[in-house]
Amino acid sequence: MLTVTEAEKIILELITQQQESERRWVALEQADDQVLAQDLVSLVDFPQWHSSAMDGYALRYEDIANHWQTIELNIAVTEVKAGSPVALPLKHGEAMRIFTGGCLPMGADTVVMQEDVEIIGDSLRLRTKPVHGEYVRSQGEYLRAGELLVKQGTRLGGTEIGAIAAAGIGQVQVYRQPRVAIMSTGDELVNLGQPLQVGQIWDSNQYALAALVRRAGAIAIPLGAVPDQPQALKLKMQQAIAEADLVISSGGVSVGDYDYVDTVLEAIGAEIHIRSVAIKPGKPLTVAKINDSISQRQVIYFGVPGNPVSAMVTFWRFIGGAIAKLSGMPESAWYPQWIKVQTTEDLHAQGRRETYLWGQLSFAKGKPIFQPVQNYSSGNLISVIGVNALAMMRMHQTYVPAMDEVMVMILPY
Ligand code: AMP
Ligand code: MG
Repeated sequence: MLTVTEAEKIILELITQQQESERRWVALEQADDQVLAQDLVSLVDFPQWHSSAMDGYALRYEDIANHWQTIELNIAVTEVKAGSPVALPLKHGEAMRIFTGGCLPMGADTVVMQEDVEIIGDSLRLRTKPVHGEYVRSQGEYLRAGELLVKQGTRLGGTEIGAIAAAGIGQVQVYRQPRVAIMSTGDELVNLGQPLQVGQIWDSNQYALAALVRRAGAIAIPLGAVPDQPQALKLKMQQAIAEADLVISSGGVSVGDYDYVDTVLEAIGAEIHIRSVAIKPGKPLTVAKINDSISQRQVIYFGVPGNPVSAMVTFWRFIGGAIAKLSGMPESAWYPQWIKVQTTEDLHAQGRRETYLWGQLSFAKGKPIFQPVQNYSSGNLISVIGVNALAMMRMHQTYVPAMDEVMVMILPY
């Protein structure tokens, strides 16, 4: 049985990032949540010209430096509001009315707030001593033309999109979003909308995994459930492989008499790289690679356990990172984020496998703490509602007393 770290390494090595040819151009308004496939360089300075950060008056600092209390500056006849073309140069002994975003007139180097001046007819006096350069946004102060604006591999959100738009860029090159097919296996599974017979359950993994896949930045292709029959499983698998870069099936990977996933994978010529991992929950995990000879594509297959929480823990621990790599995100995004925090309750594990205990990470009184749930059954979907973190207990570690520190994995989705 592989350790969690070994399994993670194998999985990430199986994933190859996209070829140049698969990148595509999208309009900025379609770029939200996509991963940037180019280093984006700004062609303009940020800000593009010296401008005012306040509504007030632009002046030459040297005019007032030594006698700010007594000097009266003439107010220039022109004024500059945001969008006004560059105003006339500022003469010595003058102040010019300026509004936030207005271009600083030539010669001016400081802006005083309108609250800090006293107007006397056509001139003004200063109420407080200005600081040299105050309330001026200098051209190129934030970024210079030719400098890197947003890095390749960044998943674009509102902040990046705002900066790209401000640079006048309306189209960006992004990676193709990975397509992830999701299928459930099990004779007991029934689709939503259909009534249940005794012993049957609704196929919840289908929905849970699709939601996680989308949140991880990929396109989910839900393919429904198949019964535990090798032939039906094979057909569904082939459909999944044909449609996706990555396939997730749930159920059918244990050692039960009706667990056919590995057998069928072997029958269709998949290379199986992982069969089980020393993790709790989630031990029966199958990871395989299928080389589709016709399309020349490589598809990675994850056979996760059917127990709903096991399926989710497997997703959080291994599949999210695989999707991040496949999406073109940098190495730092392939691994979960960890934080060492105090646990509010005792934590117990059997010690035979690396154990993940779910709960709430919160910042009570400014200090992060982990509060585990009460019931850890991997079949208990109710216990994962609202969780945002997994405490990790290493192999051979059986007990962490309350108020001791534990490594906690932050759940990004
Ligand atoms: P398996 O991994 O196939 O042995 O399934 C383990 C447990 O998970 C069984 O109780 C199944 O009924 C349950 N299970 C399997 N697939 C799903 C699914 N798609 N949705 C909800 N529960 C499932
Ligand atoms: Mg099953």
